[in-house]
Amino acid sequence: MASTVQISNVNESPLSRRIFIIGGGIVGASLSHFISQEQTDREVIVIDKCWDELLGSTGHAPGFVGQLNESSVLTNLAKDTVSEYLKVPDGFNVVGGLELSSTHSGVETLYRRRDLALVAGLHAEILSPRDAASLAPDFINAASVKNGLHFSSDGTANAQTITSYYCQQAQFRGAKLVEAEVTGFDFKNGEITVIRSLAGDIQIHGSTVVLATGIWTSSLASDVPSPIPIVPVAHPYTFTPPRPYRSGTPYPFIRWLDHHVYARDHGDRDGMGSYDHSPLRLAAGQTAIGPWPSEFEMVLSEASSHLKNGKNFLVNGSSADMNKKRPFNGIFSVTPDNLPLAGKVSGISNLWLCAAIWVTTAAGTAKFITREILRDGDHATPEDEELRKALSPVRFQGIETSILENQALARYNDIYNREI
Ligand SMILES: Cc1cc2nc3c(=O)[nH]c(=O)nc-3n(C[C@H](O)[C@H](O)[C@H](O)COP(=O)(O)OP(=O)(O)OC[C@H]3O[C@@H](n4cnc5c(N)ncnc54)[C@H](O)[C@@H]3O)c2cc1C
Repeated sequence: MASTVQISNVNESPLSRRIFIIGGGIVGASLSHFISQEQTDREVIVIDKCWDELLGSTGHAPGFVGQLNESSVLTNLAKDTVSEYLKVPDGFNVVGGLELSSTHSGVETLYRRRDLALVAGLHAEILSPRDAASLAPDFINAASVKNGLHFSSDGTANAQTITSYYCQQAQFRGAKLVEAEVTGFDFKNGEITVIRSLAGDIQIHGSTVVLATGIWTSSLASDVPSPIPIVPVAHPYTFTPPRPYRSGTPYPFIRWLDHHVYARDHGDRDGMGSYDHSPLRLAAGQTAIGPWPSEFEMVLSEASSHLKNGKNFLVNGSSADMNKKRPFNGIFSVTPDNLPLAGKVSGISNLWLCAAIWVTTAAGTAKFITREILRDGDHATPEDEELRKALSPVRFQGIETSILENQALARYNDIYNREI
């Protein structure tokens, strides 16, 4: 467990201009790392309800990082993120990403994505069914595929390793970690003055608060005047039982675009997930593991039919125990435009959001928010102006919350760039 300080210790030296990050998943950890790397007198304090294990989505992500997205904003953030994860010991494995299609329209999509990738400066190559299958022979049946699209610089992020490395680095540079469940805030003159928590209150005297609380963000920010349409959704993922490690070139991360199914080699077993079901909204509980909807057994069973070794995957019997590699219902956030909410909140002068961010873009987005917070009113670069506009939490102002939440749910099935 990371070494933490008590709230009494934080209240002992109530410096102004401190930066309180609530949430120590990959986003909060990235923020603490990048802010503490800068020459600043601003102390960083990260508050999480648990430092023993990652209770949020970060603890469950299979960690695929596909850098190409229909949004060039996300593509640029993902490229920046990969360049950072490569600096973390054992943080990123460049195993590649392989998209497959078995339909004519799907193949057209692959070609369009290949062209888009080349414009974005990402290496991407169309493969024949045989060449595609040779990259992951246990997963891919060449006869069921028309073409593949291989992205050689994509890979898998070890999200837990990166998170603990970033927290350690931040602590080494003076950041403090506090274990406390935040329950709300006191406001005065449009500013947060007190962070309330089950472990006690923190007086924050002119400091900055950043919510990096993932699926819990909209409930924690319920006092914010503008809408925060971050909707927690259910997602099924499962494993095969353990098997001997494969030898040879590591398998790329595979995505069957027509079926909204993906799979990866976890070393001692394989993993598989599916988006091929109606979006299912959940209330965020204590962890990012939800109750198991019985229809997920059918979803996983159908998903496994697309894999050559599909019969090896467990599709029945879920587990909320994070150490048990059984089917589980992992929860993550969707938003109306599939973009993060990262920036200053309107109406509360010292509150920032850094949420609805995938592992794929966490470090790049945290670097942007670091620049924004430390800029102190100085002009932003044109690139950062573009990011500010695209990611600003204010962009949904004036739209009814129920409409936004329905739009967010509808984006669940687009996560694999179906619209491109
Ligand atoms: C099954 C599954 C598959 C996924 N696959 C991928 C993938 O392949 N690629 C990818 O890029 N992403 C993937 N994701 C999404 C990714 O995991 C998340 O988007 C990312 O981890 C979010 O990070 P975070 O730091 O914002 O949130 P979290 O990891 O959820 O961290 C939030 C933290 O805030 C803390 N917190 C919350 N409320 C409070 C409070 N009131 N007081 C104190 N602390 C609080 C929590 O304890 C938690 O540690 C997947 C997610 C799931 C569940």
